[in-house]
Amino acid sequence: MTSTKTILVTGAAGYLASWIVAQLLQAGHQVHGAVRSLSDRTKIQHLLDLIDRHPGQLTLFEADLLQPGSFDTAMQGCTEVIHTASPYFLDQPKDPMRELVQPALEGTRNVLGSVNRSTSVKRVVLTSSVAALYDNACDVGAAAQHRVQENDVNPNRDIHRNAYAYSKTVAEQAAWDLQRQQQRWDLVTIHPGAIFGPSLSKRVDASSVAMMVQFLNGSFRTGVPALWLGVVDVRDVAHAHVQAALLPAARQRYIVVAKDLRLLEIAQHMHLGGLGIANKLPRGEAPKWLMWLIGPLLGLPRSYVARNVGHPVYFNNHRSQSELGLQYRAVSDTLNAHIRQILDDQLLVRVP
Ligand code: NAP
Repeated sequence: MTSTKTILVTGAAGYLASWIVAQLLQAGHQVHGAVRSLSDRTKIQHLLDLIDRHPGQLTLFEADLLQPGSFDTAMQGCTEVIHTASPYFLDQPKDPMRELVQPALEGTRNVLGSVNRSTSVKRVVLTSSVAALYDNACDVGAAAQHRVQENDVNPNRDIHRNAYAYSKTVAEQAAWDLQRQQQRWDLVTIHPGAIFGPSLSKRVDASSVAMMVQFLNGSFRTGVPALWLGVVDVRDVAHAHVQAALLPAARQRYIVVAKDLRLLEIAQHMHLGGLGIANKLPRGEAPKWLMWLIGPLLGLPRSYVARNVGHPVYFNNHRSQSELGLQYRAVSDTLNAHIRQILDDQLLVRVP
């Protein structure tokens, strides 16, 4: 039987982190949840519900990634830290340095600064992304059968090319740099693909929820680009974090992807029959020349279209299965459970 731990989860109110918190509570652990604002009930109501369901196990703290020392109090008495908080937008933000990179990079440095000041933390788990492993699909060598591996590193040093991928890459590298400077705590990084699956909250600001809503509301009806995503269930990604925090032998980086699919194949796994909504899912793929033409209007720069559309990319998930013990859910279960939650919570009407 696993002994009870006290574990800090940053960004606790987020889409992924809420499941990590819920699984830790379910397993009997004490959880410190760091949120940006304790007064914004719309963002944290689902955590308040978890407090009611698990009395005495979950304590919430206010902390901001951009304030040095902000996580010191939340970290007191914790032996593990799971650092998920980092902004993730589908669209390129107006000021990528301020909106994406600083919270990701400075936030990681601040959280790890608190870890260094604490005396109790022995393990840090950082939520990274497959975006920290490769730049463009066309660069993932045919020699590797288009398969991204855990020892790959995104070589992009240009914040303007893909600001989100850049933010995840530099944040992870900063974390490894800080880890190597000391010996008390070790680091495990989790690299999920595109996360879907039911949300524990009714928030619609998470990119995973926004993308699923776009599939359902017809945003992609005229066709999707031939882009490959590594799809994975939010509950499996949460389990990967819990395992990475608790298994002493967990080490280094883990790709967490259930299945590699083209965008159109993702739509083909969605079943809308009997749900009472019109089927506005994409039925085909837009040709690459069209994507090249209209891509910039949709937030896809032409250089991105040229290097990614039509280029397959696959992910090697073996280590997550053999070392973290993940048994991935079927993608159709993930997507259809997500659709049901969106409809049950009436989220389609809340998103323009
Ligand atoms: P999310 O729901 O938007 O969660 C992001 C969290 O970061 C939110 O809780 C947010 O706080 C917090 N945050 C942002 N800026 C902050 C700041 N300045 N100070 C404190 N907290 C701040 O998105 P998610 O999908 O769960 O993402 C969680 C992690 O998974 C991120 O590191 C993301 O890069 C990674 N990831 C996501 C996917 C995916 O497909 N969703 C794939 C790979 C990796 P609030 O609650 O106050 O907004």
